Amino acid sequence: MPRRSLRAAFFLHFCQACGDKSAAITVIKMTSKPVVEADFVELPDGTLLDTIEDPNNPGRTLLAVYRDRCVHYTDHFEADDRICVPISRSTDVLKHLRFSRGAKSYESSPSLLAALITIISMCLDMPYHQIALLSCFIVSTWFIEKLPIAPYVALVGLPRSGKTTALRLLDLLCRRSLLTSDITSAGFYETCNRVTPTLLIDETATAGDRRALFHLLRVGSTKGSVAIRRNKAFNAYCPKVVCWTELPHDAALNSRCIIISSQETDQTDLRRVTDPQVQAHADDLRQMLQQYRFENFNRLTLPRVPGDEHLHSRIRDLYEALALPIGDPITRKALAGEFQLQQNINRESLSPIQVALLQGLDEYIHENSTDPTCANRDLTEAVNVKLEYSGETLRASPRQTGHALTLFGLTRRQRTNTGWVLLLTRDTRERIHRLIRRYAVEIGNSENRDGCDFCTGRKPPASAETKPIPDPHNPPPPDAPEGESGEHRELRARKSA
Ligand SMILES: [Zn+2]
Repeated sequence: MPRRSLRAAFFLHFCQACGDKSAAITVIKMTSKPVVEADFVELPDGTLLDTIEDPNNPGRTLLAVYRDRCVHYTDHFEADDRICVPISRSTDVLKHLRFSRGAKSYESSPSLLAALITIISMCLDMPYHQIALLSCFIVSTWFIEKLPIAPYVALVGLPRSGKTTALRLLDLLCRRSLLTSDITSAGFYETCNRVTPTLLIDETATAGDRRALFHLLRVGSTKGSVAIRRNKAFNAYCPKVVCWTELPHDAALNSRCIIISSQETDQTDLRRVTDPQVQAHADDLRQMLQQYRFENFNRLTLPRVPGDEHLHSRIRDLYEALALPIGDPITRKALAGEFQLQQNINRESLSPIQVALLQGLDEYIHENSTDPTCANRDLTEAVNVKLEYSGETLRASPRQTGHALTLFGLTRRQRTNTGWVLLLTRDTRERIHRLIRRYAVEIGNSENRDGCDFCTGRKPPASAETKPIPDPHNPPPPDAPEGESGEHRELRARKSA
């Protein structure tokens, strides 16, 4: 916007805010500084400015100014080089954007998180770990400028499973929340250029605009990313929550999301989101989150926690985005554990070791179609050859191979006099094929693929079934010392060649 028109905007805004035309004229005349609308500004001296809703008039906005650990409210703030005014609610979309109504003190970081968990539990029937994840997501939206990526939540569930309730509750608690179904209007994109909202989108309500929705989701998790609409670029970087009735067939997109499955409930004592008490409590929490944002904006650090080294690529980014604003090390550790589980339900986020293991297994069962077992030690060797081939620097230990086998549900293992072996039952062979398909793992063209019932879809004769004898009293620990049989030594030699 040109300076002159911004000054005019300021003039109008100022008149609206205080109803005193002459005072506005005086201010404009007294300064030659440009007038700038401020969604959020961090000044060089550490002062933070944030647009909030005027507590006395929901139609108007004010600036909350955080300086020297105190907050005050004003309708304009004169900085060295400009005059900042709050974002005005001048458009239909901005009228629906939820600002906090100020900043309010809170007891501690854990108590704030506990309060979020309580309000979600009051309204949604969800397992505790999902509620905790949602609570951390809410806090993270208040620090979007500081996060490595914009976190997404995918709420997945059948119709009437509470997804819409979750969306409306998040609307009460996330920073600058915008519950919208109209993501293709010019007004929507203009809003995203003026503020950084938390977008809450019900996919079923935007069914006609799936392409636009996917475009927005794909580009909007990386800082500086823009969405292109009618040859104009718009800021697309912001946290987002999307409701799906089923996860989209888009592994890359799913891997950017914290996946929360919502289920129908029989609980009859849940509070409605429209309950005045819930609304009042949420309003308080929003103000506390505003205060938490101010106090911690320049104090965030993320020390390593045990377990976070098991996270990789996008899941690690998501974990860091949620953990960064959480001060409590115990909660961070729990989060790291949660994200390890998320990693396992997320298709694209298999670890390099897991991918290499599936590739190694696939190769082994096709090259050795009649072998009844495969030794853990040889499998580990094969995994490491794959890792090296794909340029990874890490290497798997037999213990990690065992862990990965367990995670994949390949638990039919036995200790032999040459070490632990995986029993290549028909079930196991079939499961390996299913895992390869499920996780879309790239596989090579082994020579015996034509002779494989699972690759060709042939029904095998019943006698083809191999019947291992699992020992229920001796479940296979994944980390036992391993021996090596002749045939597996041969495999190892082949792999090393
Ligand atoms: Zn096959």
